[in-house]
Amino acid sequence: MQFNYNIGTKVIFGTDCIRRYGQDLSVYGKKALIVTGGRSARESGALDDICNMLSSHNIVFEIYDRVGNNPSLDNVEEGGKKARQCNADFIIGIGGGSPLDASKAIAVLASNEIEPKELYANKFKYDPLPVIAVPTTAGTGSEVTPYSILTRNDLQTKMSFGNDATFPKIAFLDARYTESMPREVTVNTAVDALSHAVEGYLCRKSTPVSDIFAVEAVKSFGECLSSLIDNRINLDIREKLLYAAMLGGMVISHTGTTVVHGMGYNLTYFLGIPHGKANGLLMKEYLNFIYDRAGEKINILFKLLKIRNVDEFGDLMDLLLSGRPKLGREEIEKFVLITMQQRSTLNNIREVGKSDIEGILKKTFAVL
Ligand code: NAP
Ligand code: ZN
Repeated sequence: MQFNYNIGTKVIFGTDCIRRYGQDLSVYGKKALIVTGGRSARESGALDDICNMLSSHNIVFEIYDRVGNNPSLDNVEEGGKKARQCNADFIIGIGGGSPLDASKAIAVLASNEIEPKELYANKFKYDPLPVIAVPTTAGTGSEVTPYSILTRNDLQTKMSFGNDATFPKIAFLDARYTESMPREVTVNTAVDALSHAVEGYLCRKSTPVSDIFAVEAVKSFGECLSSLIDNRINLDIREKLLYAAMLGGMVISHTGTTVVHGMGYNLTYFLGIPHGKANGLLMKEYLNFIYDRAGEKINILFKLLKIRNVDEFGDLMDLLLSGRPKLGREEIEKFVLITMQQRSTLNNIREVGKSDIEGILKKTFAVL
């Protein structure tokens, strides 16, 4: 048995956690830059809670609220300039995975005068500014991962960077901030959390410790399934989803993701399919692809989801996720080539080549 374990993030979980534990932020300095998307930080109530808490501890702040979905290198470059201009001591990211990932990149760019592309060298002369993460979706687990996944328009895909220094210092998880999510965003992000647990459990880099988190995440997701399907999503369910998402993040912090994520980035980049939904659509055929190598482990997960086989897993995803695009042959060829550039092609328990990716895409989507 050989493994390393490190979660560089202090997790503070529970209703009203920002008010109760906000004083912990004083050690990071006197000036914060708050990084958000356009609306959800305000709508969720998280921004108000953070601003009130900062004011009560005499920490001044400015807000950068221009993070788009699937943020680009240009987006984080702008945010990095803003952090430098305002002399921020630390960054507070509020939102879904997009603002949280952007915060990590902005924190590196604030302390290192480098081109955004140089983020991918994963070595920084100066430590990034400390990042505090407040998720308003329950999916990516970005609040406890070192990863920042940014859109690379030059490569027509999304790519992640991150090292031990880019773990958020503190994650405040309050499920009330996820209540404003519409059903579709709730479901898509929940399926992302599931895919992190499933992929992390069934990949080359899984460890005995990450497996514990993965099983617990799938169990918690499973307890929410009927509520997600029937759209009866109360605060208890939201808390379980946030817990599952956090655990999923802890899993992939150690294991990384698989070619499911690698393929999914094409669906997001070229077709605008939300990240979690993209993974959810692809997972059934991926499970079929690896079933011979990991049947026993897959069956453990199925039991937690109260299903019997891969087909029933597919039915479940169909119940949760609406709409599936058709793909052209040339589109599939392009997606295969781009996917092969992703590191995640090396993290699968069955070796993955071009024809395997093509096979999974053709079985998942009707071909035009
Ligand atoms: P997102 O892109 O952050 O947000 C999607 C949409 O949901 C946005 O329009 C956002 O609005 C809205 N939204 C967020 N919270 C809301 C709330 N409480 N109420 C109402 N609307 C809300 O979605 P996400 O799925 O959480 O993040 C996806 C990104 O995370 C992708 O870029 C993906 O690659 C990345 N990711 C990162 C990791 C990691 O480990 N770092 C893991 C998986 C995925 P606003 O724009 O107004 O905020
Ligand atoms: Zn993901």
